[in-house]
Amino acid sequence: MLFYSTNQQSPPIPFSQALLQGQAPDGGLYMPEEIPVLSAREISTFSELEYHEVAARVMGKFLEGELPPQILDALTKDAYDFEVPLEHVQERQYVMRLDQGPTASFKDFAARMMGRLMNHYLEEQDRNLLILTATSGDTGSAISHAFLGLERIKAVVLFPEDEVTARQRKQMTTLGQNIKVLGLDGKFDACQALVKQAFSDPDLQGLNLSSANSINIGRLIPQTVYYFWAYSRLSKNAENIIFSVPSGNFGDMMGGILAMKTGLPVQKFVVGVNENDEFPKYLRTGRYDKIEPSRNCISSAMNVGHPSNLARLVDLYGGMMDEKGILHKPADMETMRREIWTASVSDEQTRKTIREAWENHRLLLEPHGAVGWAGLQKYLTGLSDNAADKLCVSLETAHPAKFPEEINRLLGFDPSLPPALEGIEEKEEHYEKIPLKYAAFKEYLVSNYQGFNH
Ligand SMILES: *Cc1c(COP(=O)(O)O)cnc(C)c1O
Repeated sequence: MLFYSTNQQSPPIPFSQALLQGQAPDGGLYMPEEIPVLSAREISTFSELEYHEVAARVMGKFLEGELPPQILDALTKDAYDFEVPLEHVQERQYVMRLDQGPTASFKDFAARMMGRLMNHYLEEQDRNLLILTATSGDTGSAISHAFLGLERIKAVVLFPEDEVTARQRKQMTTLGQNIKVLGLDGKFDACQALVKQAFSDPDLQGLNLSSANSINIGRLIPQTVYYFWAYSRLSKNAENIIFSVPSGNFGDMMGGILAMKTGLPVQKFVVGVNENDEFPKYLRTGRYDKIEPSRNCISSAMNVGHPSNLARLVDLYGGMMDEKGILHKPADMETMRREIWTASVSDEQTRKTIREAWENHRLLLEPHGAVGWAGLQKYLTGLSDNAADKLCVSLETAHPAKFPEEINRLLGFDPSLPPALEGIEEKEEHYEKIPLKYAAFKEYLVSNYQGFNH
């Protein structure tokens, strides 16, 4: 199976290439030429399996012929060594906690698998990769944990010293091994500019730089798995299920849509966004206007005024949108509206949801998951038939302990730390500071990584 670019100007390539390349040369995003099919019978067998086994079965369909099944088994077992709880809230409504991984964020699911897949193909091709990434907080820790200890990959993470909390910094600087961290006296945008300049510097071509960014197809496919997982644990008699997904760049939600197209019986995807409501407007009108600059909301990882994965969604519904957000061909909006329902949730509603979920159900949500839960409740309220017998799963994408100030203000206590974040205060930090100058960054890369590729 080959993967094509949503911009249709680059040639289709095998998975391994798309994975190591990230974005297509024409600026588009890679998509599978065919969506594989899982039969109802195969899906029904998942109820007997562990999470990593479901992951191997589902991803195996997308990677058939690209990766021997026993290798995929080993990689998924290594990547998914944590719990994926489904917390019962009321009636047949559940919250799936995707916050039990090493950085307590749902991004662990994608990043850990992408890292292992990359390492496998690099091993096969006998080469190495140097990942550069700039972070203003959580991406850096998810990426560095995902690549920690992988033999063929080294990572350099740049962060603005004044814009990162001590806890976020320690999640990156206490790792060591193949992860190097650089603190800079500047803003996130300046760090990102250094990384971009390095990618386009011909002198550094020999270092085999890569970005492992969020639009990589290797991050999307692992995000189909937890939808199958929830279904396998909760469904009775092959019924349909409703998912609610708090969304920013729409990678999480695209994983769900791919799962549905692969055969998962989904009745509706509820897409909750914060006050960045470009998608609800698009779904209503078919016209798309990005929001520039994006609006600042408390669900900060969802402050996105132009979701990069929207191009994939439009593509899947028969349209074409380029990376700038220009629609070259309309999507089938009628089908999209039948399968997706969406709502914008204000910060005020988000805070109210966190308070009420705790008071009424002892359900502890943080701002992102609260947008998902609020979206689900809005959807169910509008239904004409009885919502009580519908199976619903809302996704919680981060651990509440990552937002202690907000939770404390609203609920009056500090959420206890998940095991992943415990003990980090005592660990020893290692990071270097370099001047915010490209020459200094380049010198750092050349002196530390010259020859790493050979
Ligand atoms: C990244 C992120 C999201 C948004 O996910 P997308 O795939 O970009 O839609 C939601 N919640 C948290 C905590 C995140 O880190």
